[in-house]
Amino acid sequence: MIKIPEIDARFVDIGDLPTGFAPYSFKEMYVREFTLAELKLLYIGMHSKQRPLQHIVRAIQMCCSIPVMELTDGDFEFLMAWLRKASYPKAPLQVNWTCRHTNIVYKDNRAFYRGPPIDERQMALDNMEWEQCDTNNVETVTAYSTKLESLDDDNLYIKDPRFDFPRVGTLGDYHAHIEEVPHEKHMAECARWIKRGKTFRDKLVYLMTRPDNDLYEDILELRKEYHHGIVEEMHLRCRVCDHRWKHHAAPRLLSFFADNTEEDIFKIMYNLLSEFGMQPDMSMPAKLVLFNYSSLAKDRQDAANRKGGFKPLG
Ligand SMILES: [Zn+2]
Repeated sequence: MIKIPEIDARFVDIGDLPTGFAPYSFKEMYVREFTLAELKLLYIGMHSKQRPLQHIVRAIQMCCSIPVMELTDGDFEFLMAWLRKASYPKAPLQVNWTCRHTNIVYKDNRAFYRGPPIDERQMALDNMEWEQCDTNNVETVTAYSTKLESLDDDNLYIKDPRFDFPRVGTLGDYHAHIEEVPHEKHMAECARWIKRGKTFRDKLVYLMTRPDNDLYEDILELRKEYHHGIVEEMHLRCRVCDHRWKHHAAPRLLSFFADNTEEDIFKIMYNLLSEFGMQPDMSMPAKLVLFNYSSLAKDRQDAANRKGGFKPLG
């Protein structure tokens, strides 16, 4: 194997992993930021119906010195977070969430009650009732923090020989399976902890055909004990009922590298060429392409505004 860092100075050592490299034969990892070539692959992955993950995993592999298929899910999340931070000018999250807050509303006009806490008797008297909001919100969040959850230093190995960490190698088949059979999601997640079996399907069949629940229950314990990876923490606000709360989310692979503009990378390349005369170069850092595009687009917008004449504020 060619040692990439020795022939390509863009690769940098990204330090310790959430597992401390315990599950691998390699003990260091070199990574470089995405270029335009990988941005294209990511875009194809995020918009493809057929096995979208393979494009995303491939894009990540191109930037990494070790076989990413061996990484645990948690270490892979850490790698994705590193890549996003290194490769995007600023990376706002797009969060799609449903507000489950229960509000007090007036029965006649459905207006929200905004006063001090009241009891059920008072509510009945004033003709009010409970109502669950259920609004679907799509928010772009720029202020969020990414928290790292590592394994405990004295508990880096799974001692029980029946189990192994879920790894990127079974991620593609797992996703394809739950697309097809969504109600098996929980069992499919558990099956990925089983060491036995070459493929994801072998593991799932093995788990589903146990005569009792012992294996399954041991996996539930394992998932708690060995959880690692990243968690994104952010403040969200419902656009309808104004409910505010602190949200914790595990990264979702398919939307993790979506930027806030959701702009088509092919359109960006075409615009850079046709409107700004910039020849796209596939080895150009993604960050630079996106930054150039947004500043050029902004200059153009500013110019158009100036041309439109002076508009007083207010
Ligand atoms: Zn709400």
